[in-house]
Amino acid sequence: MSERYDVAVVGAGVVGCAVAREFSRYRLRTILIEARSDLGDGASKGNSAILSTGSDTPFGTLENRLVTRGHQRYRAEAPAMGLPILSVGSLTVAWNEAQAASLAEMHRATVAAGYRSAELVDRDAIYRRVPSLAPGALAAMWEPEEAIVDPFSTPYAYALDAVTNGVEFRSSSAVSSALREEAGWTLSTATGAVACGLVVNCGGLWGDKVDALAGLADFAIRPRRGEFMVFDKSARPLLDVILKPVPSPTYRGVLMAPTAFGNVLLGPTAEDIDDPDDWRVTRDGLAKLDAAARAMMPALLDHDVTAIYCGVRPATERPEYRIAAHRDRRWITVGGIRSTGLSGALGIAEHVAALAFDGMLRAERKAELAPVRVPSLLEGGERPWRDAARVARDPAYGEMVCHCEGVSMGEIRDALASPLAPRTLKALKRRTRAMFGRCQGFFCGARVQAAFEHASRRAAE
Ligand SMILES: Cc1cc2nc3c(=O)[nH]c(=O)nc-3n(C[C@H](O)[C@H](O)[C@H](O)COP(=O)(O)OP(=O)(O)OC[C@H]3O[C@@H](n4cnc5c(N)ncnc54)[C@H](O)[C@@H]3O)c2cc1C
Repeated sequence: MSERYDVAVVGAGVVGCAVAREFSRYRLRTILIEARSDLGDGASKGNSAILSTGSDTPFGTLENRLVTRGHQRYRAEAPAMGLPILSVGSLTVAWNEAQAASLAEMHRATVAAGYRSAELVDRDAIYRRVPSLAPGALAAMWEPEEAIVDPFSTPYAYALDAVTNGVEFRSSSAVSSALREEAGWTLSTATGAVACGLVVNCGGLWGDKVDALAGLADFAIRPRRGEFMVFDKSARPLLDVILKPVPSPTYRGVLMAPTAFGNVLLGPTAEDIDDPDDWRVTRDGLAKLDAAARAMMPALLDHDVTAIYCGVRPATERPEYRIAAHRDRRWITVGGIRSTGLSGALGIAEHVAALAFDGMLRAERKAELAPVRVPSLLEGGERPWRDAARVARDPAYGEMVCHCEGVSMGEIRDALASPLAPRTLKALKRRTRAMFGRCQGFFCGARVQAAFEHASRRAAE
């Protein structure tokens, strides 16, 4: 039996990492338990990377409140962690009269809900901002506060912050049963038992199965697949805003957006599937994306596609967050964080802490916290190899390994030496961007793999 914890957070997606970080602010013993070998390897690894203001969530709901708060907190707290925010703004474009009418209504409701910077703009203003847009746009809603973030570094920064401030992270530890005891729970995991006073289920795509371990059956996950195309960096001059269609009540539609890494992203599709582990990219999905690009910006299709990928949303049978405090059981469920968890995570974390401190936990806030900073992977951002003095001090920063994404051996070495060192090559990709570029690892893959295997062997010694 391991030692006893006050809180066990199950699931290290972006939500679980944010929740663990939140509890690290208090004098508590907290453990973050993850089934996979790396954090951020579920729904959190395949999204559109948009930091939503909350204006695209149903007004008056918990989701709307937490995404709005998550956005505010991200802007206030992420820069100190080294996380980039690209405040490019979004244009929601109407292509016919019916859409223009819904857009006008949407704008009225958006402003009335408090998103006062939302503005209706006419055709000329649209084409001034996006000259390559297909002809035929009638009107758009401009939202200057919508932004792009780094979807991989975000959960990593939260988890690193949590661990630096006292949280224990245990990976490769799927929770397989939960035994109720007087003062809390004993969780069985693949790496041993964990006794704790409170469980926070942040199981994402598998959240219903984690809840079932406590005898709860309040919701069922209905996985919703979304496919994407990533266009080469040569396409980036085409687009400097997030382009969205006017949404339907059930689907926000395919958007087009710049990425923090200098590419252009097209997606996602939306397809309800049965298996949360079905991450296939399909012919049908790609055809839908191709049609969307043709309709919105045919010029995009003149550029190469660097990668295709798929994400799966942890949706449920109801279009809302399924967050519930089961006080009698000492269990908090954070379920159904469907399409907005990257934006909402810090708002969700604050809400979860408030639920826990309302009768389930008591703890003082820590007077001091150790700061953390993750390396910036922003295209054109500050990189060690751009700094001649740093390269002179440490020549590994001058030894370029991944030429497409500009990743030096020094940066790969640093990632491998992190307290949350990547345990797989894919995790190393997410931490550094090595192998993510236009050659997809064709040229650098062998060297990156050798560095990874060398570090893994040394860690095992
Ligand atoms: C196509 C798509 C586009 C999106 N676009 C955006 C966007 O632009 N902006 C935005 O804000 N959001 C977006 N999202 C939503 C966002 O990605 C999700 O809301 C978020 O990733 C959900 O995170 P999570 O932590 O709840 O779940 P997950 O990331 O799935 O994390 C759950 C974790 O729990 C672990 N786990 C499960 N069972 C167990 C167990 N028994 N024991 C231990 N660990 C367990 C899993 O391994 C996993 O790591 C998008 C999502 C998709 C799919």
